[in-house]
Amino acid sequence: MNKLIRFHAPILRRTFPDRRSIALARYWHTSKKMSSESSDMKWNDGLTPLQLMVLKDKATERPNTGAYLHTKDTGVYHCANCDTPLYSSNAKFDARCGWPAFYEEVSPGAITYHRDESLMPARVEICCGKCGGHLGHVFEGEGWKQLLNLPKDSRHCVNSASLNFKKE
Ligand SMILES: [Zn+2]
Repeated sequence: MNKLIRFHAPILRRTFPDRRSIALARYWHTSKKMSSESSDMKWNDGLTPLQLMVLKDKATERPNTGAYLHTKDTGVYHCANCDTPLYSSNAKFDARCGWPAFYEEVSPGAITYHRDESLMPARVEICCGKCGGHLGHVFEGEGWKQLLNLPKDSRHCVNSASLNFKKE
């Protein structure tokens, strides 16, 4: 039986190159890998179910629902899980994309960047540099620098659920 599967599998792949199936397989592979990595992390008992879904399981909050979407106060956005400072309010801008947007992190190393192939084309996932909690994705070269006169042409698209804002 095993021999039969081994024999037929490459032929089936060549005969039916179903791109969606391949993308799904990659998604599950990536998710499995990510969830096994995240199982070693410590998660704050005070996190809401939504925060845990986003930070730990890499879910995305629904657009235009996040607590910090329209926040314009001066302060620092910290990781909701481990309290590491992640973004300054100075770097926040209105991208009208449905999630809070920042053009850069508060300091080098505050966040980490990871290739995410769960959707095609692949995106760059951003995580808390200390606890590894999922924040969102970063998109480069969309034209925000020119449009809003920003120092960088990056959009860090961050879930409000991953953040805890501290007003200064
Ligand atoms: Zn963290």
